[in-house]
Amino acid sequence: MRRPCMTPVRPVRTSRPRAAHSFAPLWLVLLALFVAPLLSFPTPAQAAPALMLPTPAGQGWKIIQGYGCGTHNAWDRYSLDLVNAEGSTYGGTVRASADGTIWSWTPSSGTIVLSHGNDFFTMYTHMQSAVSTERGKFVRQGAKIGEAGDRETVGNPHLHFTAFTSKGGRQPWQSVPLKFIEGYDLPEWVAAISITVK
Ligand SMILES: [Zn+2]
Repeated sequence: MRRPCMTPVRPVRTSRPRAAHSFAPLWLVLLALFVAPLLSFPTPAQAAPALMLPTPAGQGWKIIQGYGCGTHNAWDRYSLDLVNAEGSTYGGTVRASADGTIWSWTPSSGTIVLSHGNDFFTMYTHMQSAVSTERGKFVRQGAKIGEAGDRETVGNPHLHFTAFTSKGGRQPWQSVPLKFIEGYDLPEWVAAISITVK
């Protein structure tokens, strides 16, 4: 079911965690001391490279759908849909947000996933074409990786962009809030507050 995009959607904590037993704090301390270090899940802050906007340098692109609404309501909650505010979206240059390698290409939806190491990935969807689909090929931050289009969203060309973490690229994937080196920090973003980024 699609959520409306008219109001900000934020995670709501409905109740405080409660201590079920009197010895819970000790149990938690032991967990923190001995178990947690063995798990070594990278946090987004540790794993994330500095991201560049995936749109052409200096060209205004408008966010038409943000977080937690419309089609962005599952693992891909922290996604952006972008259209060219200054010209044609169809055929617009899509750039690699960070140095990485081509992880996958899905022709039916025009989706490229780039791997940036440390289990951090970026995804670019609905593209009409890809410069290369060769798995493992290195791409430099800012390099053209393809052209925007309307695959799997026929008649509604836009670039869907998601950054996510995943153990070795396997499911489940977990999208992360976006921050771009051009000066956009988007901890929460919804379509009702549309902005143009460049
Ligand atoms: Zn989207």
